[in-house]
Amino acid sequence: MGWFSGNKDTEQDPYLQKRLDMVRIQIAGRDVTDESVLDTMRRVPRHEFVSPRYRNSAYDDSPLPIENDQTISQPYIVGSMTERLKPSKSKIVLEIGTGSGYQTAVLAELFEKVYTVEYFKDLAIQAKRTLERLGYANIVFHIGDGLIVPSDPPDFDAIIVTAAPELFPDSLLRRLRPGGQLVIPVGSYAQTLQVASKDEEGQVSIRSLYGVRFVSLRSDSQ
Ligand code: SAH
Repeated sequence: MGWFSGNKDTEQDPYLQKRLDMVRIQIAGRDVTDESVLDTMRRVPRHEFVSPRYRNSAYDDSPLPIENDQTISQPYIVGSMTERLKPSKSKIVLEIGTGSGYQTAVLAELFEKVYTVEYFKDLAIQAKRTLERLGYANIVFHIGDGLIVPSDPPDFDAIIVTAAPELFPDSLLRRLRPGGQLVIPVGSYAQTLQVASKDEEGQVSIRSLYGVRFVSLRSDSQ
């Protein structure tokens, strides 16, 4: 191997500096403080989850279009929602709305195992391909309506939904373990991000955080 000058890291990954800036300004620079989340977002190559024509915008402070008229969420929203899940390597998480797979990758780094459900087959297949190429081996994929979750495993330590139902889906609370957190946008046009926490006795409390704009959750059951 020959000599080279310059920064080895940025030579291997031309997006590294953009990614570090994204975390510093948009995520840590707002209110996300969980170091494990910040560190993960410094590593996960977000540009791999968008089509080539959006690659240079992959680290911008905004959502971007993906196939099937869906969107990859704004980086800040990914960081903020992930932190609310209280991630840990000993927990399992359910994600509804695989989309590009970017949020899935962030979860896969922070949780023991990720179960992810996507409505559109094309998106699920593409996300699976990207995540496998990047080496993630702790993700289970499912195609279908995320509100009709396969019964195994029966429950999860954390649940994240990245498409908005009009009303809070009470049925999902049955799949949340005691001590678990469910993070979900709720509403039709004006949506709010809500966090449901289930205590050790199984009592649920729901808090509204802030206004968001997600694509609508599709439903086969309505
Ligand atoms: N976390 C994704 C967000 C994608 S947008 C990302 O950052 O890339 C929301 C996704 O939810 C879309 O891919 C959409 O197809 C999917 N979706 C909508 N309704 C769904 C449902 N009922 N079950 C599973 N996925 C659904």
